Parts: sequence; C-alpha cells; structure tokens
Amino acid sequence: MHLLYPQICFGCGTDQVEKNKPLCNPCIHDLPFTDFFKINENPVEKIFWGRVPFLHAGALLFFTKDSLVQTLMTQLKYHHNKKVGILFGQLMGQAIASAEKFEQIDLLIPIPILPSKINSRGYNQSQVIAMGIQQVWNRPIFGDVLTKKNWSNSQTKKDRKARLEQVPDLFILNHPNSIEGKNILLVDDVLTTGATLEAAIATLMAGSPASISIAVAAYTL
Ligand SMILES: [Zn+2]
Repeated sequence: MHLLYPQICFGCGTDQVEKNKPLCNPCIHDLPFTDFFKINENPVEKIFWGRVPFLHAGALLFFTKDSLVQTLMTQLKYHHNKKVGILFGQLMGQAIASAEKFEQIDLLIPIPILPSKINSRGYNQSQVIAMGIQQVWNRPIFGDVLTKKNWSNSQTKKDRKARLEQVPDLFILNHPNSIEGKNILLVDDVLTTGATLEAAIATLMAGSPASISIAVAAYTL
C-alpha cells in the first residue's frame, strides 16, 4: 500500500508521515504559530475594531508568500487535499481549547462558498477546518446557517459608490432562530482584509446571537 500510495511530508519530503497527515511531526511543530488565540487585542482583533461587533478573534498561523503555509493552503483549496483542512482544524481546536476565553462558545459556523465552487473543489474548505476543530474540541457545526450569494446576481445593479461605502451584502441568513442567544465561533481559512468575515458578522447579527467570535487558520502579514 505504501508503494502504491506514497505519503510524503509537504514540508521536508520525508515519508515518515502519520496516516492522514500532510506533514511529519517535526514540520507540524515548526509551523509559524501566532499564539493569537491566547493574546487579547492581537492583530486579528485589531482588524475588526470599529467595523463589526465581535467578542474574540484569533488565527492559528502566519501566512506569508512562498511559504509552507501557502503551499498547504493551495493544496487545500485547489488540489482536493482535505487532510490539510483537518490538520489545520485540529491544531486550531487545540489552541482554542487551551485558551479559556473561548470556553463559552456554543457552535461553529464555517464561512460558506458558492455551490459552484463546492462542485469543483469537492468541499467547502472552511467546513473541513470546522470538522477538524470539532475532532478535538467538541462543538456542533451549523453549516447551513449562512448561504453565499452569487455576487453577479445580487450586486451588479447597485451603484458602485454605495457598494464601497457599506458592508458588502454577501450572505443570506437561514433559519435565524437557530442562533438566537448563542455564542458563535465563525471559522474561515485565510484572513486578509476581513471583508468576508465582516459581511458574515453583519448578516448573523440579524439572528440576535449572544456573541460572535472569529477563528481563522491563517492570517496574512
Ligand atoms: Zn516534514
């Protein structure tokens, strides 16, 4: 089986890799961890200050160009390598579980992608990350609370200036009663400008949750 399906580490190329892991243990250990889940007023939280209400926010890894993290993210998004998302989620779950301030979270909501992208990719990468989190930190995943709108249908008729000034209207909220009074953890893959998460939070607020926190796998420097 090993010859037919060689498993090698994306970091160093060794074949000493645990089943279902994309990296060997030394390469996992050497990933550029941020420790943001334990740090108050961290750079990820600062991105959202003054934009939308949220409770806590953090990222697992620093994302830089031409890095191993970028290679892994490309594997997850474009090469059907689900193992990467599970590993990221498991590591996020460990980091979140050891940060007491996330204890009150009731449920996980992955940021949705368009159905057409799910068809070509085979999965929603944020859903896979949430599944990895759930494996080590048991919280239910509410995967159908948000639906991604097709931008070309919903936005083209709006004035461009108005579009730039308001939080983009990217998502539909399904059965809002299911999140009323709940403490939500939003899960996403990569954080750059924060516009997607900002739009998701603005939509979720209509369901009157108790709080919304943010967990991303990688934060772009
Ligand atoms: Zn390695």
